[in-house]
Amino acid sequence: MEQSDLTELQQDINNAKHIVFLTGAGVSTHSGIPDYRSKNGIYNGVQESPETILSPDTLYNRPQFFYHFVMNNMYFPNARPNLIHKKIAEICNRKGDLITQNIDRLDTKAGNQHVTEFHGNLYKIYCTKCHHPVSYKEYATSYLHKNCGGIIRPGIVLYNESINPETLNNSIEIMQKSDLIIISGTSFVVYPFAQLLAYRQENAKIYSINKTEIPAPGVKQIISDALDVFKELN
Ligand SMILES: [Zn+2]
Repeated sequence: MEQSDLTELQQDINNAKHIVFLTGAGVSTHSGIPDYRSKNGIYNGVQESPETILSPDTLYNRPQFFYHFVMNNMYFPNARPNLIHKKIAEICNRKGDLITQNIDRLDTKAGNQHVTEFHGNLYKIYCTKCHHPVSYKEYATSYLHKNCGGIIRPGIVLYNESINPETLNNSIEIMQKSDLIIISGTSFVVYPFAQLLAYRQENAKIYSINKTEIPAPGVKQIISDALDVFKELN
């Protein structure tokens, strides 16, 4: 990481009219939530692919397997927001929006009032039969709804499911009104999330703050741990 890049980024943040942050799992690993796509992620040692496990097919046909997998590997109800969540929240509450792939609700816990959860979140739990909301506490005791016997599920977008149309439209509107785009903690290979860049303003400046380069043209790449960069930003 070059000091000049940091200075330039801070100036762009100061001068921007509206900033959008696009984030992924790498932001929450510092809160102890494993990145399930990385080598040390939660699928290590699991025989089946994430695409197979986190699918409607598994949810409905092998509900107990699905339930134990998400309970044991994806829920971290005691995780706390870290400095990156907090810095992003401060900037968003001033003049920006966050569109995150994360489903852990840590950005909301950090006080961010402009959060769009692109893939939903783990704590918006409901019964697939009677559609009543279910608390995490109740879900933690059983995957079957005590009222009706229906299968309970988290409100996350599973593989083979579509992004909520309202969420998608909202995200596109945010991209269109932003003149600064900051991508962090994501390899940026998941579609349609990565496709959001197509809706940017022509002159919008784009930064990536990641340990590795992301495959997108016209992006200023700051190769670093996001925590080291965000602690310098205001
Ligand atoms: Zn029910």
